[in-house]
Amino acid sequence: MNKERSFMNFIDLPAQQQRIRMQIEENIRKVLDHGQYIMGPEIGALEQALVEYTGVRHAIACSSGTDALLLALMAYGVGPGDAVFTTPFTFIATAEVVALLGATPVFVDIDPRTFNIDPEKLKQAIQAVKQNDPRLHPLPAASQSAALTPKGIIPVDLFGLPADYDRISAIAREHGLFVIEDAAQSFGAEYQGKKAGALADIACTSFFPAKPLGGYGDGGMCFTDDDTLADLMRSIRIHGQGSDRYNNVRVGINGRLDSLQAAILLAKFSLFPEETILRQQAAGRYSALLAQNESLVLPYVPDGYLSVWAQYSILARDNAHRAAIQAALQKEGIPTMVYYPKPLHVQDAFAFLGYRPDDLPVSDDCARRIFSLPMHPYLKEDDQKLIADAINGI
Ligand SMILES: *Cc1c(COP(=O)(O)O)cnc(C)c1O
Repeated sequence: MNKERSFMNFIDLPAQQQRIRMQIEENIRKVLDHGQYIMGPEIGALEQALVEYTGVRHAIACSSGTDALLLALMAYGVGPGDAVFTTPFTFIATAEVVALLGATPVFVDIDPRTFNIDPEKLKQAIQAVKQNDPRLHPLPAASQSAALTPKGIIPVDLFGLPADYDRISAIAREHGLFVIEDAAQSFGAEYQGKKAGALADIACTSFFPAKPLGGYGDGGMCFTDDDTLADLMRSIRIHGQGSDRYNNVRVGINGRLDSLQAAILLAKFSLFPEETILRQQAAGRYSALLAQNESLVLPYVPDGYLSVWAQYSILARDNAHRAAIQAALQKEGIPTMVYYPKPLHVQDAFAFLGYRPDDLPVSDDCARRIFSLPMHPYLKEDDQKLIADAINGI
């Protein structure tokens, strides 16, 4: 087999496009005909479709998942001196937006089974910030944490599995903190009968092409039941616009979604409910094919949770074992990925926070052992058998 080129897609967007190519072209043509490239009717149509899907009152389309998080934090007026608690085991954007606003990310380690923020450690971290005592929980360098005020929590629904919102919300209420759900990977997932997007004060998702509901470019969406927050985010999305376009009542951003992107997403959304079911089936097949392999830790979905399987991520025994598995799969032309090789607390961008790798040992350990297999709704059982055989042969 060819050693360089993958014969399998990690995410098969062409297979999806084939099913809806006509609808996509038709939707694009409509935009070309009406010419409302900015805030055209497709924006409202997409927002309405996702309101109905999630059961949340307001959906606010925006330019990316990162900007969705930024809009949410700006709506809460987050700034210098504020502590925002989040996980280090995520994509950089989750904490980047906190730092961009001059606030301080306080990293809280993850649960080793779900890879999501650990509510027990979250409690300790909040106490540590309140008492400015790093003996209770590792904190950012003294210069950063001098007089931090706990402001909010951003749990991430990693790999498509929601965080534990019942426990997180209880902690947030006790301390008067907001909760922003980073649902960039979890649109389509469920927790205790509610859809991702409906699990916190504000939720933010991403339409980056590789996400469960992906477009053909950048895009995102904020969700909230709160009318005031929704109005704020709609205003901030368009340069802090007030009652009309040239009346600016606050400092905002250019955070709109393009009409063309919404048109594409509307076509893709028509397949989405079916695709989430196909993803469950693909994940179930992996778990069955790998169940006998005792040197692996397979994904765990607690009762009451439904993952949308943005990734199917496995823990190898150790770093060398992971390298051996990845090499064996690569030899067969099967792509794998590592999410995430470097947790945020050890990223150079956050060196100023002064964290040490062993401050957050679970994240550090997972970063060495984790890897993800090809995952998408059109994954074939035969390909999955090939993947499993290659892994089980190590
Ligand atoms: C992809 C992602 C984002 C950012 O979304 P973009 O649309 O790429 O800006 C934020 N958080 C997480 C967890 C993500 O996976």
